[in-house]
Amino acid sequence: MTTLDTHWFTEICEEGGSAFSLRIKRKLHEEQSPYQRIEIFETEKFGNLMVIDGFVMLTGRDNFLYHEMMSHPALFTHPDPKRVVIIGGGDCGTLREVLRHDGIEHALQVEIDERVTRISEKFFPELCESNNDPRAEFYFGDGIKWMAEAAPGSVDVVIVDSTDPIGPAKGLFTEAFYRDCFNAMGGHGVLVQQSESPLYHMRILKPMHAAMRAAGFDDTASLFYPQPVYPSGWWTATLAVKGGPAGEFREQAAADKSFETVYYNAGLHRGALAMPEFFRKALED
Ligand code: SAM
Repeated sequence: MTTLDTHWFTEICEEGGSAFSLRIKRKLHEEQSPYQRIEIFETEKFGNLMVIDGFVMLTGRDNFLYHEMMSHPALFTHPDPKRVVIIGGGDCGTLREVLRHDGIEHALQVEIDERVTRISEKFFPELCESNNDPRAEFYFGDGIKWMAEAAPGSVDVVIVDSTDPIGPAKGLFTEAFYRDCFNAMGGHGVLVQQSESPLYHMRILKPMHAAMRAAGFDDTASLFYPQPVYPSGWWTATLAVKGGPAGEFREQAAADKSFETVYYNAGLHRGALAMPEFFRKALED
């Protein structure tokens, strides 16, 4: 649910009993795609803002937190990632981060709504700056269907950069989808999924860990990081690893990374894996 007066965009989170507002200058774009309502605002201090169906997707100012934590931990957890599939991620920010890794040979973005990508090209050109990289490929269709049909052993890392588990994204939060991801991977594979707020959404996080393990993954771990524009300001990405532990990663390679980041580094990766007590207890109960 959202409210909008002439100066503020507000997203109300009924579940958390809270709201987050951004002071806006003007609305830049609004359309109803075949899948969802997409709006773009120019804010006063957070750059451009994308809203889908009333929910904040990203802002120009702080999306680096989300995009870096959705990509680099998973890529440094896999021993040698070459083939990446991004499910959703239409704004292309995760794709840009993935392509910073020299070892990546192919990164496919499977986004259900082409309009999200076209609008991002216009209003978030910095996120789309790697879209012409020869290693990048775009497929506009349903990620659930795509994964069900993926060839066994054809993917090293799956990144689920989706909207919340409602509407077209609902099936991305199920054991059946995780099993399809597992089967698409070879002997060693890493899945990472945006997994909502640890403070507000344990009803999503706890079954997610259970479903990933039930689907065959050897280990799971959530990464905790700040995300000011999402409900509670505190967010998670959850890793599921086939053929290895989720809490181990190529720490020296992360420390020696050949590209610049704004947030991610090896120490933050290690720290993001530390589990708060309430979270550990909720998973164990
Ligand atoms: N960072 C964002 C967040 O957590 O709020 C997500 C950003 S990205 C814009 C999410 C994308 O997931 C949307 O563009 C949406 O169209 C896409 N999506 C939702 N369900 C999908 C599905 N089943 N297959 C592929 N893409 C999907």
